[in-house]
Amino acid sequence: MSDHFNDPEASELKKIKDYKQSEPLFDSDSQFESLTSAKIMMIDDEPINTEMVKIFLEEVGYKNFITTHDSVKAFELLDAKKPDVVLLDLKMPKVSGFDILKRIRAVEETKYTPVIILTSSTDAETKLKALRLGANDFLGKPVDSSELILRIRNTLAAKVYQDKLAHFDVLTDLPNRQTFTRHLEWALHKSIQEKISGSILKLDIDRFKEINDTLGPDVGDVLLQMISQRLKECLRYSDTIGKFGQDLSQTGLSRIGGNEFAVLLPNIKHLDDIFPIVKRIVKIIEPACHPKLYELYVTISIGIAVFPRDGHELNTILKHADIALTHAKQQGGNGFQFYADGLNTKSISQLKMANELRKAAGRDELEMFYQPKLNVQTGQIIGAEALMRWNHPKNGLVSPSVFIPLAEEINLLPVIDEWAFQSACGQQKAWKAVGKNIVPVSINITSQSFRQGRVIGTVRDALEKTKLDPKYIKLELTENAIMENAKENIEVLNRLKEMGIKLSIDDFGTGYSSLSYLNSFPVDELKIDQSFIAGILTKPSNLVIVKAVLAMASSLGLHVVAEGVETIEQLNILQELNCAEYQGYYFSKPVPAKEFVELLS
Ligand code: C2E
Ligand code: MG
Ligand code: MG
Repeated sequence: MSDHFNDPEASELKKIKDYKQSEPLFDSDSQFESLTSAKIMMIDDEPINTEMVKIFLEEVGYKNFITTHDSVKAFELLDAKKPDVVLLDLKMPKVSGFDILKRIRAVEETKYTPVIILTSSTDAETKLKALRLGANDFLGKPVDSSELILRIRNTLAAKVYQDKLAHFDVLTDLPNRQTFTRHLEWALHKSIQEKISGSILKLDIDRFKEINDTLGPDVGDVLLQMISQRLKECLRYSDTIGKFGQDLSQTGLSRIGGNEFAVLLPNIKHLDDIFPIVKRIVKIIEPACHPKLYELYVTISIGIAVFPRDGHELNTILKHADIALTHAKQQGGNGFQFYADGLNTKSISQLKMANELRKAAGRDELEMFYQPKLNVQTGQIIGAEALMRWNHPKNGLVSPSVFIPLAEEINLLPVIDEWAFQSACGQQKAWKAVGKNIVPVSINITSQSFRQGRVIGTVRDALEKTKLDPKYIKLELTENAIMENAKENIEVLNRLKEMGIKLSIDDFGTGYSSLSYLNSFPVDELKIDQSFIAGILTKPSNLVIVKAVLAMASSLGLHVVAEGVETIEQLNILQELNCAEYQGYYFSKPVPAKEFVELLS
């Protein structure tokens, strides 16, 4: 018997080898991966048949086999293992292949599972009967290895495609609503079983209908693809559960409707874990999209429901996420909302504030205050520093030391810096137009705008727009901002100088600049940090530092401003030390533009 089978097996294996060498069986590595990991079930009462088939298929890479020689057990195995393809013998004792086929097609779970019949009877009647019952393909026994391999490959490739259509969205390649619902069901079940919390985020692109209607569905489609690509990038694998079962996607991100996406976070330890994810989403959507040569700034609204606290049934949790999303939209979009109130942790209020800050410039909530800079000897106002304030509708005036770090976190510094320039230059121009005396205004610029050289464009734009003489503008940069990348910064500084802008080093003494290095920077002014002035009378070391800075500045030909002068005693010392200029509460706090003009006159 062994002779009888060994010979044909050996020759068939050689055939496979020759075949594999002549042309590749799979289109790509990924096709190889997805097809050869398929679960292949073999139901045949003769072990030698299944053994042969297995050897042939293993030869080309298949590795998951479910085998039974007892047709009675087949039903149970089918239910338990959910194979991707079934190789079915027709003639078996007790339960025939026809009976099994009938049952496969009758049960919801296996209704569409491909079945290939392996049979030695080639008569038309048998074939027709099997086809009528829903068989997908036939293979004659004894099995020809090449034919077997090709039929299995084709059947599985068709199944992969079918699965994809059923579970994925064609436009974005993301899991579709059905898949999302299945994932969510699974996650809800798990959360109850294992007493863990999860969350769903429903994302909706603001004004998408408008974009679609005005620019056309082609542009809308490309935009959806771009947005989904960004979302895929920012939802890291670790935010979600990864693969959880057969053909489920890798991330919990799905496209569940026209312009609606959903993110499933099946296991969150703290509610706070949601914020970094929301932040990342908001941030990644922010830069302009360029679908088909258009430039679009898209925003999204997010509705968040947490399970089991907001519900543990599928429909309830979906409904609650919807309600939250509607709230987010009602707030004007470009924001997020939880279904449950009372989630007022610090992070939420911070994130809320970040959201509000994003809209502050457009809502006229930013305002420039001005603090006079005075000649130490004569007390004359010889300049001003522009200091930004945020008029928050509920919280009142918010200090830049609160909102500038926030702006940095959400990539808003360029907007802030641009606004500062436009506002201060515009104000100067307006004063001049009504015949007021004006003095140079110092504008603070963040290290971020400076580092990327963006400051040059910002300054040029503001000056062009307002046609203001650059001599009325000074730029303040912190010592650290300049030193961070000293070599490149010198170039940016030189270009600003060429434009006629005066440069000042802010908060001097708090950073790490080497004094000798200062010489190579084209700066005009040093502002001694207020911490040194505050202790000038009480801490001898402060006095020493101030004296040293003044001496050094004088030898380098730099103008010195003392910041934070609050008392007459402090001012008196500065007079003695021959410091040129000061600013501080002693004379005036930063005040609104209107009041500053009054101070000037
Ligand atoms: P800075 O540029 O060093 O501004 C000086 C800060 O000291 C201001 O705080 C000012 O109100 C405060 N100050 C002035 N005189 C006194 C005094 O006598 N005593 C005390 N204790 N403080 C005094 P402010 O306005 O809160 O600004 C804080 C920082 O925020 C600024 O420090 C600056 O780095 C930044 N900033 C302010 N406005 C803008 C802006 O328009 N753009 C940018 N990029 N940054 C800004
Ligand atoms: Mg300053
Ligand atoms: Mg300062």
